[in-house]
Amino acid sequence: MAFLLEKHAGLDVHAETARFETAPLEEMLQWTWDRFGDRAQIGTSYQGSGLVIIHHARKLGLDFPVFTLDTGLLFPETYELKQRLEEFFGIQIQSLDPAQTVTEQHETYGGNLWESNPDTCCTLRKVLPLQQKLSHIDVWITGLRRNQGETRAKTGILELYEFDKLRGNHILKLNPMANWSREAVWDYLRENKIPYNPLHDRGYRTIGCWPCTKMAGGESERAGRWEGFDKQECGIHTFLGSNI
Ligand code: SF4
Repeated sequence: MAFLLEKHAGLDVHAETARFETAPLEEMLQWTWDRFGDRAQIGTSYQGSGLVIIHHARKLGLDFPVFTLDTGLLFPETYELKQRLEEFFGIQIQSLDPAQTVTEQHETYGGNLWESNPDTCCTLRKVLPLQQKLSHIDVWITGLRRNQGETRAKTGILELYEFDKLRGNHILKLNPMANWSREAVWDYLRENKIPYNPLHDRGYRTIGCWPCTKMAGGESERAGRWEGFDKQECGIHTFLGSNI
């Protein structure tokens, strides 16, 4: 069962998020571990900021479970990176799979759903598996950064969402990298020799599923996703609605 509001009635999310604006990453992770233990989990798609979080957690000896959404449509380099990261950090990264394989999805919805209806494709392959995961944990730790683009500019460091209206469950989202810059993330990765996706060296700024990721310039770090569609987010960071 996910986070019940009553269970942590003393938690003042707004006060904590204000305090965290100037707190070091170590302090936020320690606070989360002390309060929630392994019911707080790190979600990663192996972008740089998530790797910085995992590295800090390992250094502090905080065994947050780590999970990833495996759409079945990731680049070969990404699958290979998962293995390298598991070895580097000495952890197992749990893969969350969609209900249908890509072939089964083709049979149900027609071929290449990402070309005809990427919103439905993202819902089936990302949002639904994530919803299932969130119903079993209390805190979802993400690598969101405000300067990744317009849709992420107002990211709070600690956010509370009503997750399941019927049961009154809530999920707490910790975005401890919200005020880090891209440069700071990359400096940290290089300094600590953390494995990263080699596609970045070939010009990809952000890396998701292979059918929906292109090399792109421009201001936004999210440029290059869903070319030809008015779509900037897959839905995993927007399906929860507004934080409370
Ligand atoms: S990013 Fe593209 S391929 Fe991946 S789930 Fe979304 S629409 Fe489907």
